[in-house]
Amino acid sequence: MANNDEEAVGETIFGRMLTGQEPSRFIYEDEQCVAFDDINPTAPVHFLVIPRKPIRQLADATEEDQLLLGHLLLVGNRIAREQKRMAADGYRVVINSGHNGFQTIYHLHLHFIGGRQLGWPFG
Ligand code: 5GP
Repeated sequence: MANNDEEAVGETIFGRMLTGQEPSRFIYEDEQCVAFDDINPTAPVHFLVIPRKPIRQLADATEEDQLLLGHLLLVGNRIAREQKRMAADGYRVVINSGHNGFQTIYHLHLHFIGGRQLGWPFG
């Protein structure tokens, strides 16, 4: 079983990508979020959208984050439609939250996955 222990707050690889301490190639960025391809894609298209705000996991989001969460979904949808051309055939959005969700990086991120027929349910 893979290790999915938590990383310390503010010490995630995604946090370091946002501050420039870690090299990264963003496929999209604005004042609220960035998007980049997953280093270990599970499908032909697999990118992540993350907020600049260091929310550790979806379970920690509050009413204050309502507009931000909607923004993350719409940004991913726009990337899927305009850059990856997968909207016509469909795709999946995944947010792993916490230990049982098998979250491995504790900076909130949305997985956008597509480009092939996906199965359901997964384990
Ligand atoms: P989680 O299991 O936390 O929902 O997903 C973390 C994701 O981040 C995994 O799909 C993993 O492949 C991806 N990932 C881990 N380290 C890196 C990295 O350094 N760069 C990129 N682009 N993706 C990463």
